[in-house]
Amino acid sequence: MNKRDILRRIPKVDEVLQKEPLFVFFEDKGQSVVTEAAREAIDALRAEIMKAGDDELDSFDVSRLSADAVALEAVRVLEENDANNLIAAINATGTILHTNLGRAPLCKEAVENVARVSKGYSNLEYDVKAGKRGSRHDIVSEILAELTGAEDAMMVNNNASATMLVLSTMGAGKECVVSRGELVEIGGAFRIPDIMEQSGATLKEVGTTNKTKISDYEKAYDEERTGAFMKVHKSNYDVVGFTEEATLEELVELGREKNVPVIYDMGNGLMVDMSAYGLSEPNVPASLATGIDVILFSGDKLLGGPQAGIIAGKAEWIKKMKKHPLARAIRVDKMTFAAMEETLKKYRDEKVALRDIPVLSMISASPEEMKAKAERLLKVIEEKTEGYSLEVAAVEDQIGGGSAPMVRLPGYAVSVTSDSCTTKAIERLLRKSSIPVIARINDDRLLLCVRTIMEDEFDAVAEALTAK
Ligand SMILES: *Cc1c(COP(=O)(O)O)cnc(C)c1O
Repeated sequence: MNKRDILRRIPKVDEVLQKEPLFVFFEDKGQSVVTEAAREAIDALRAEIMKAGDDELDSFDVSRLSADAVALEAVRVLEENDANNLIAAINATGTILHTNLGRAPLCKEAVENVARVSKGYSNLEYDVKAGKRGSRHDIVSEILAELTGAEDAMMVNNNASATMLVLSTMGAGKECVVSRGELVEIGGAFRIPDIMEQSGATLKEVGTTNKTKISDYEKAYDEERTGAFMKVHKSNYDVVGFTEEATLEELVELGREKNVPVIYDMGNGLMVDMSAYGLSEPNVPASLATGIDVILFSGDKLLGGPQAGIIAGKAEWIKKMKKHPLARAIRVDKMTFAAMEETLKKYRDEKVALRDIPVLSMISASPEEMKAKAERLLKVIEEKTEGYSLEVAAVEDQIGGGSAPMVRLPGYAVSVTSDSCTTKAIERLLRKSSIPVIARINDDRLLLCVRTIMEDEFDAVAEALTAK
């Protein structure tokens, strides 16, 4: 058959749309979507034929030109277009707060509450008892105050926007004094000096990269110009060697003496003392106990909740921030409140928090538990796959998410190698699975680090390996 004859036999859109496999999609996706898919399938077929050389035309399978065949192709197009861009993935990297993989996984109750609160209406801004308008700020203010010892607290979109709001409220038109060693970049375009400029506050740098003393802040103080003393936690880097920094206590004392508020951008939002697990980071209640005016931190780092920025501290400042025009621009949706409230409730008992909040239970898991978990995963993979060499291997896991960069948590992984394919190929295979498994390669072995793999994901990990 020559090209023209083949092209002539391509079915018309209307013929394709008569075919049974497409019927369910009319109801589900709508007429125009199905028609478009049929057109796409036809266009692709035509393009393929137009491009084909004589040999390809001779061997062309004419059954592909039937309306039935094209309808099936349209079904494939519909299914492909229906796949979400944001999908669940399995984190086998052992890095707990993996920013590329969505930072903190939520606890079960948080997820359930999001569904409960958002599938219908809610009292987001309605005071049910009083029968009148309420404020969304009240949802987590009380529990945050209870847990952290702050007078008042509020929640915004993330810690970057919290910084913006705090500086706009407390520092606009004034100087904000920050140590040169703490002018951090958190990733992307979030740099303290840039945020400061956006907020209308003037950055007053003091000290040097490695050393800043409390006397440096004192020297920078000016009765007219100084709006705040600010400390920024060195979340994602460490300065070692000949170093010195002013403590929160010293800053609070100086602030009190000069009547200047002290702001602490602590970043990670750790709520409990985790030093027993190798994590000697400052925590929120202890930081507030020093008497600082305002602390701000992320919701989805070590707090283990949804993306959010929390501002807590003295009521006079929080009240001003709630009324600031910017607060509206960075306000949080009901889904975030629903997840955050359930996450925060866990902290009423530290043991419950460590058990139920995924980030904390991952950090506090013992090496023995990790080893037993790796052995269980190895068994599941062994049962479901063939052709791999599997081994339990000791690894070092990380906190990630720009938190505690020097901390290494002793963990375990299942190491996977194969005689029939390269480690890179296994890594690719896992990534291409319908639930992508993101793994690590070390010493030409693929490592499935079990600290960040949930127990109920074991089957999916094994299945991803069978697609070979
Ligand atoms: C992570 C971090 C931020 C940014 O927080 P997001 O919630 O990601 O916006 C700001 N400051 C510090 C010190 C941080 O660690």
